[in-house]
Amino acid sequence: MEFGYTDLQREIRTSVQQLCARYDLDYWRACDQDKAYPEAFVRAMSEAGWLGVLIPEEYGGGGLGMVEAAIVLEEINRSGGSGAACHAQMYTMGSVLRHGSEEQKHAYLPGIAAGTIRLQAFGITEPDAGSDTTRIKTFARRTGSGYVITGQKVFTSRYQHSDLMVLLARTTPLEEVSRKTEGMSLFLIDTREAGEAIQAVPIDTMINHETNQLFINELEVPRSALIGEEGRGFSYLLDGLNAERILIASECIGDGRWFIERATGYAQSRIVFDRPIGKNQGVQFPIASAYTAVEAADLMRLKAASRFDAGEPCGPEANMAKYLASEASWAAGEAAMATFGGYGLASEYHVERKWRETRLFRTAPIANNLVLSYVAEHVLKLPRSY
Ligand SMILES: Cc1cc2nc3c(=O)[nH]c(=O)nc-3n(C[C@H](O)[C@H](O)[C@H](O)COP(=O)(O)OP(=O)(O)OC[C@H]3O[C@@H](n4cnc5c(N)ncnc54)[C@H](O)[C@@H]3O)c2cc1C
Repeated sequence: MEFGYTDLQREIRTSVQQLCARYDLDYWRACDQDKAYPEAFVRAMSEAGWLGVLIPEEYGGGGLGMVEAAIVLEEINRSGGSGAACHAQMYTMGSVLRHGSEEQKHAYLPGIAAGTIRLQAFGITEPDAGSDTTRIKTFARRTGSGYVITGQKVFTSRYQHSDLMVLLARTTPLEEVSRKTEGMSLFLIDTREAGEAIQAVPIDTMINHETNQLFINELEVPRSALIGEEGRGFSYLLDGLNAERILIASECIGDGRWFIERATGYAQSRIVFDRPIGKNQGVQFPIASAYTAVEAADLMRLKAASRFDAGEPCGPEANMAKYLASEASWAAGEAAMATFGGYGLASEYHVERKWRETRLFRTAPIANNLVLSYVAEHVLKLPRSY
């Protein structure tokens, strides 16, 4: 099997690189230090159409595939930026595209493609459920005209920078379903109309990620907010996971390449004991090892994306790509930190920011232990461990 990029894919890479070059490392450092949303960058990406590449042309999007979307996010992170500020605008719409009504698609997808509507919040995780999504307690109670939703979410990112949010809630209590994955539903919430019914409390984190705790109290939504059929929300969620895994892997690969370029450059120019530090194998090997891991992860990521675009099952590849890429970018971050010595910790060298940022991907959107559980159970057919 061979992976070669098409002319169009190479052009996309170059164009995204050019746009990202307008937002240099100092821009990202200032956003990080001020805990500011990179609004100018996200707006520029939206206006250039890069965040709408996965939306079909009939709804105003780029009508491109997963390989192209992966290139976009890889290049943001490879430039030293953080795709996490806007990655969800690319893929959260997938549940609307695949399972939404024609009215929902026509009402929202063109705006999402143009960037005039932001759908980059998704509320899945809850304090008491953690990785066991079936234990969520947020409940949507059926009324005559719609639903009333009450519950709590945690780590709902970019809520303040979204017009819409995809929310997972139970519509049948856990005790009343025959399978625990049943009885959950996905809702498309217009956060602009939520008013006091949703209180968002920012969570201070070690990265500039704009994540929140949400307190949802008697939020009234019309029946038209339901995505697809009631009770099938969990399976709709699973349908979108492969895309998310592949795109997150791409951000990690971008991070990994950025770390390796920085570490290699510094290892050649920094002279200690009358020679470049890169002459020492103790400095070379972690960089070379991380480079090897990033390249291997890239292959798995491309295999997953190619299968996704061909409409073939890609769960194992997408999960393995997320695992390999997040571990590889972390190894690359560690290698860069070690290479830069004390300067790795100084914010003006940018390594410590990227190191903090790439650490997230070992934990979110899914902890790597749970990825390994998936591989053990679904690929290797070992007994389910939880
Ligand atoms: C900055 C940030 C942004 C996020 N953004 C969003 C968002 O926008 N929307 C959203 O819904 N969520 C979001 N999340 C939540 C994220 O998806 C979860 O943190 C992640 O899935 C892990 O869940 P948890 O934190 O509850 O960990 P837990 O489930 O409590 O797990 C804790 C640890 O135990 C391990 N563990 C748990 N069960 C097992 C098991 N059976 N076998 C082996 N190990 C196990 C895990 O691997 C993990 O290391 C975000 C998180 C962060 C930190």
